[in-house]
Amino acid sequence: MTIGKVRPAVANMAGYKPGKAADQLEVEHDIDDAIKLASNENPWPPIAEVVEAVAEAAAGINRYPDNGAAAVRDAVGDFLNVDSSHITIGCGSSGLLQQLFLTYVDPGDEVLFPYPSFEIYPIFSTLFGAEQVRVPLVDHGFDLDAVADAVTDRTKLIMLANPNNPTGTSVSVDSIAQLLQSIADDVIVVVDEAYREFNDPTLGDPVTLLADHHNVVITRSFSKAFGLAGVRAGYAIAHAGIIEQLDKVRLAFSVNNIAQAAILASIEHRDAVMERVRDLMNERDRVVGSLRAGGVELPDPNANFVFIPTGEDTASIGEQMERQGIAVRPFPGIGLRITIGTPEENDRWVHAFLKIVSARTK
Ligand SMILES: *Cc1c(COP(=O)(O)O)cnc(C)c1O
Repeated sequence: MTIGKVRPAVANMAGYKPGKAADQLEVEHDIDDAIKLASNENPWPPIAEVVEAVAEAAAGINRYPDNGAAAVRDAVGDFLNVDSSHITIGCGSSGLLQQLFLTYVDPGDEVLFPYPSFEIYPIFSTLFGAEQVRVPLVDHGFDLDAVADAVTDRTKLIMLANPNNPTGTSVSVDSIAQLLQSIADDVIVVVDEAYREFNDPTLGDPVTLLADHHNVVITRSFSKAFGLAGVRAGYAIAHAGIIEQLDKVRLAFSVNNIAQAAILASIEHRDAVMERVRDLMNERDRVVGSLRAGGVELPDPNANFVFIPTGEDTASIGEQMERQGIAVRPFPGIGLRITIGTPEENDRWVHAFLKIVSARTK
């Protein structure tokens, strides 16, 4: 039942579907040891210093946070070696993506993105009444020439999740530079680097693009590598002229006290954070090795998840995994996205997956 005159864009839209929580699977399938590998979270609890900083900040939550998160901008700027006028902090990088849509997208504008990609792009496009221009992936990766060809004078935003979610593939910064050369400089190119820390470093750092291209926005997240998904924090790096507009449309105080404290502590102790990232990447290599040894074909992963192109079997394999207490993210008709978890979790899901697949091919 809809009440009041709901905007058609909202009424007709399916909302964002988050990955299933472990306790949800336990109830659905009457089991008690479910694991969640459906949302690309970091499997490890936060480091002790972050928990301490959060506890300390909790004592001050009767006050609003610093709306501009000045200390956090400075800390991020310092660690990136970028002036803090080029940085803003958001309520998750999803919050920053919403700010980009609020800043640039009117009804009838075009938003362009390779697809399949992050499901927030179609959702925001729909909400803002924009026309989605989806450029098909080639071999699970981006075809940036096709992206350039699809640009029109109505294109406002190009969304490039790099590495891409759900396929885990990435493009080089050089190839993004080429795209920028070949399109109008009033089209904003968003490089969504939610998985930056897991990416192949030889592909380059898109921050270097800012010197020659004022229309690039890089968004990054504290949710994945930094393991702060629960506090909702991300940052954007862009020309100060873009940052200034983005700051106007942020929901006031949406980066809360606890999030700000957690970010500051994480940056201060980022060596410990990055050590865990390296462990996860070693696990990723081990998982890929086991899958390939088991005859599974998959693209090289550049994030903290693997993508297995299971095609038409995706929904039913996903369901079989869920029944065994393993929450994965199926993209029906396309493939399964499975987060790299702890070594025990990885052993369990790889074993389950290989068993399911071999039973099918018999
Ligand atoms: C997880 C994810 C995000 C959102 O991260 P938050 O910072 O938690 O909002 C953004 N983009 C992509 C591609 C993601 O997979």
